[in-house]
Amino acid sequence: MVHLPVYMDYHATTPVDARVVEAMQPFFTQHFGNTASVQHRFGWIAKEAVEQARKIIADMLQAEPREILFTSGATESNNLLLKGIAEAYQSKGNHLITSAVEHPAVLETCRYLERKGFVLTILPVDSFGRVNPRDVEKAITEKTLLVSVMSTNNEIGTIQPLEEIGAICSAKNIFFHTDATQGIGKIVFNVKEMNIHALSFSSHKIYGPKGVGVLYLRNKNPKVFLETQMHGGGHERGFRSGTVNVPGIVGLGKAVSLVQENFIDENKTLSELRNLLWEKLQKIENVKLNGDPVRRLSNNLSVTFNGVNADMLMAELTDIALSSGSACTAEDGNASYSHVLKAIGLSAEEAHSTLRFGLGRFTTKEEVNYVSEKITQTVQKLRSFSKEGVR
Ligand SMILES: *Cc1c(COP(=O)(O)O)cnc(C)c1O
Repeated sequence: MVHLPVYMDYHATTPVDARVVEAMQPFFTQHFGNTASVQHRFGWIAKEAVEQARKIIADMLQAEPREILFTSGATESNNLLLKGIAEAYQSKGNHLITSAVEHPAVLETCRYLERKGFVLTILPVDSFGRVNPRDVEKAITEKTLLVSVMSTNNEIGTIQPLEEIGAICSAKNIFFHTDATQGIGKIVFNVKEMNIHALSFSSHKIYGPKGVGVLYLRNKNPKVFLETQMHGGGHERGFRSGTVNVPGIVGLGKAVSLVQENFIDENKTLSELRNLLWEKLQKIENVKLNGDPVRRLSNNLSVTFNGVNADMLMAELTDIALSSGSACTAEDGNASYSHVLKAIGLSAEEAHSTLRFGLGRFTTKEEVNYVSEKITQTVQKLRSFSKEGVR
């Protein structure tokens, strides 16, 4: 039996793993100290727990603990990094490079900086959603400060050629930042080998609590400076003031250690379930997979059901949680659709016929079967209605 509703929107957020909740629990009521209270035991215990989490995260990225800064999430990490570098290095240059498929937390921050006088290049992607490293190389000028390209896309699952982009940036002495929010736990990161100078992610996308995230910021070869965006008591090496979210960070540390322990098995299971889902959905006529067929997230499918409105489809599937390609923050109503689907060449109509499936740790084979059956039936029903409409 399938428990309803079925959650298949793991790119939006994930449930907190029970083991994470358990690890956090003592830090609410018992070990509630402030890490800045250096004079007593309450502070020491809190600080030790935070430093332990910092070490776990540094180990995952092949970084040093002092290179891990805690924030409130990937949105803040992206803002801190992009605005922080732009301000700290404005005497050196004024040019920023990013891609057309970034999360709004990167794109909108870059557009804000453009309004403030910085020059912005938004690189196009190919039909799979990949940035061409040669385009990065060509876009770099004497004035370029930074390239920001996400690790893996949150809508279509495409994995970007990070090593190649990192090598180019390193050769040209330009900072390389990656939004790794969807990549953590799915692809292996070695920030040194990959020439990544800064990396952002959020806890709640990897079974940790909401409201906590990470900015990895390289401390040597080269050391990256930032202008802080949050002035105050000088927490997090002065880069991000504010009392440290101890329970959240403890939870994030636990979430990262779970992701690391089960990395191979979990990705294997996820890709098997995802492949099973695609196998079944492919049997529906006139469907198309978006994103890179090979270099893609183990848990993602983005599917266009031609001739079917995805929002109508979702309205019929009230006990399945999915996301549609029309999801957009812009205010121009119908004309607006996912900038990611637009960037890979989908028309508005195709984007409005697109669903995103995000599988996760608690997805079962029964759920995959249930979802594929429901979708198949409903797509057929909606298509037969629209045919009748034409007649
Ligand atoms: C979810 C997400 C973010 C934003 O994370 P928050 O936790 O909302 O700050 C940024 N980038 C990507 C790729 C995401 O998927």
